[in-house]
Amino acid sequence: MRTAPTGGDAQLGVLDGAKLLWIETPSNPGLDVCDVRRLAEAAHARGALVAVDNTLATPLGQRPLELGADFAVASGTKQLTGHGDVLLGYVTGRSGEAMAAVRRWRKIVGAIPGPMEAWLAHRSIATLHLRVDRQNATALALARALRERSDVTGLRYPGLPDDPSHRIASRQMRRYGCVVSFALPTRARADRFLDALRLVDDATSFGGVRSTAERRGRWGGDAVPEGFVRFSVGAEDPEDLIADVLRALDDPAG
Ligand SMILES: *Cc1c(COP(=O)(O)O)cnc(C)c1O
Repeated sequence: MRTAPTGGDAQLGVLDGAKLLWIETPSNPGLDVCDVRRLAEAAHARGALVAVDNTLATPLGQRPLELGADFAVASGTKQLTGHGDVLLGYVTGRSGEAMAAVRRWRKIVGAIPGPMEAWLAHRSIATLHLRVDRQNATALALARALRERSDVTGLRYPGLPDDPSHRIASRQMRRYGCVVSFALPTRARADRFLDALRLVDDATSFGGVRSTAERRGRWGGDAVPEGFVRFSVGAEDPEDLIADVLRALDDPAG
């Protein structure tokens, strides 16, 4: 296996000899975007298949198969179901033959959702469009509010017109997701900010109706600054949420 950064379509440099190109765009937690159509063409020219992890965008935000991917995969645990009460995932694909192999594998390993999980997902998908529209609109408003702050650096949201991802994102995405990322000057400052938030839980998952945020560096696995915060915008009242964030940034203890 070879890996390459998402931004700048760096995957092009590692395609030779690959059988499968696996892309996550927007990437998590850095929110870089790669050009799915361009990468799929380059991969197919070398005989490689292409899978896109569409968890962050959701099917309402991005349709990887229409952009040339062979498979779209996603965690259904996040925004697709949105209530933090079910663990699920899915694979969709273009080719009947490839999907028959996926189904065969699923049958053999037993990765089949229980009736309760299926019911929870079905109930949740009825509000997907409402949640996605609300959470995306608030994420953009939050990103705009954070852009005005001198203590916030490295702000990323693909829906911001001046974000480095926006040019490609605006061509291949219909909505830009509910995750905003940014950095505060130090680890202590980020921890105090997270403690001071009242409407936002300090938690790792994302996409739920309740806003969550975490200091990503606590896991040690991502190349992010110590003060890096991944913020998942929920369905709360937008003004209340943004006021809570600005108050937590200004908190004397923060
Ligand atoms: C969370 C996540 C997964 C794993 O999903 P689970 O449903 O929690 O197992 C896979 N891909 C991405 C991009 C994710 O964010």
